[in-house]
Amino acid sequence: MILHVDMDAFYASVEERDRPELVGKPVIVGGTPEGRGVVAAANYVARRFGVHSALPAVTAKRLCPHGIFLRPRMEYYAEVSDQIRAIFERYTPLVEPLSLDEAFLDVTGSEQLFGSAVRIGQTIKQEIRDRLRLVASVGVAPNKFLAKIASDLRKPDGFVVVEPDRVQEFLDPLPVGRLWGVGKVTGRVFDTLGIHTIGQLRRLPVDMLQRHFGNCGDHLWQLSHGTDPRPVVPEQEAKSISHETTFARDLEDVDAMRAWLLELSEQVGCRMRRHGLKGRTVNLKVRFEDFHTITRAQSRPEPTDVTHEIWQAAAQMFAERLPSRRLRVRLLGVGMSGFGQTGLRQRSLFPEVEEQRHSRLDEVADQIKEKFGQLSLQRALGMLHNVEHRSGPPGADENQYGR
Ligand SMILES: [Mg+2]
Repeated sequence: MILHVDMDAFYASVEERDRPELVGKPVIVGGTPEGRGVVAAANYVARRFGVHSALPAVTAKRLCPHGIFLRPRMEYYAEVSDQIRAIFERYTPLVEPLSLDEAFLDVTGSEQLFGSAVRIGQTIKQEIRDRLRLVASVGVAPNKFLAKIASDLRKPDGFVVVEPDRVQEFLDPLPVGRLWGVGKVTGRVFDTLGIHTIGQLRRLPVDMLQRHFGNCGDHLWQLSHGTDPRPVVPEQEAKSISHETTFARDLEDVDAMRAWLLELSEQVGCRMRRHGLKGRTVNLKVRFEDFHTITRAQSRPEPTDVTHEIWQAAAQMFAERLPSRRLRVRLLGVGMSGFGQTGLRQRSLFPEVEEQRHSRLDEVADQIKEKFGQLSLQRALGMLHNVEHRSGPPGADENQYGR
């Protein structure tokens, strides 16, 4: 059995936990409302105002003028993410992180030792609450696809189990939009076909799906039957580190996409540096609203763990190597692979000055964040928006724009 554990409003929840004065207020973590950044996370109070992740911060400000806008503290969230992971790893070595705040766990081999998958799921959820004072939603199911749907179904604080012999019962009443990859375009086709639920979709002949959706027809047919053969691949064995995010609403704004690529690059870079890894190849994954998915890779002459370089490569592939059609984007992912020797700094006779400078910048940023956990260091977003952010004491950013 597979668990999908997804933290509720992760960044915002971490901020609320550390600063009780924020509880009950709309907390929005992400870009500045006057810049062009996007919302990385909004707590549930803010969501009542219609604020959600990937929304331009300017729009968030309009929807929720009293919102408390905070800059993300990525390194700190990564630290908390590691603490969550440590809890997972008490129960299974098969942990596949999707991002800082969600992961798949294969607990099939752990059931003898720790009890049923449901029991393990409950224990993990409780431990996250007790030890870290954070709330996770958990899905327990026979495969990844079902576990992911399940964890999302009763958010926040959800716990949904899909028993292997009740998969169809579980899926059939759900709207087709719950299927991975059903975006706006596909949704419209389904509308015209009069298909609204997964159950209705399941009863369609596969060749009809192929006619309407090409290769994706197969994929949809499989999913509607609850089939997903992908294994859980733990990070240590995976020869890559990648983070991806599916947007609550398909993304249209190119600047927002670039900001997300940076956010994902930062997550990946951060994890690489924590593990002492450097990679040669930067991978980009883009899924469009019609759920056509494209992956691109770019290799570099020298391995890197530098956020800025990962982002540059990802942004370049995004700008230059995608089809020119203008579809909305449903998912973005950034990854690194081609790991060389770990922890070794390349010493060359003619050092790439730029690389070293950025590398140094990351190191210093890591150190500072370690030392002053509360200080929000916005080098990354600052670079993107070309804005020098003020640094200040903890919380100085709060309400800076909230007047
Ligand atoms: Mg989450």
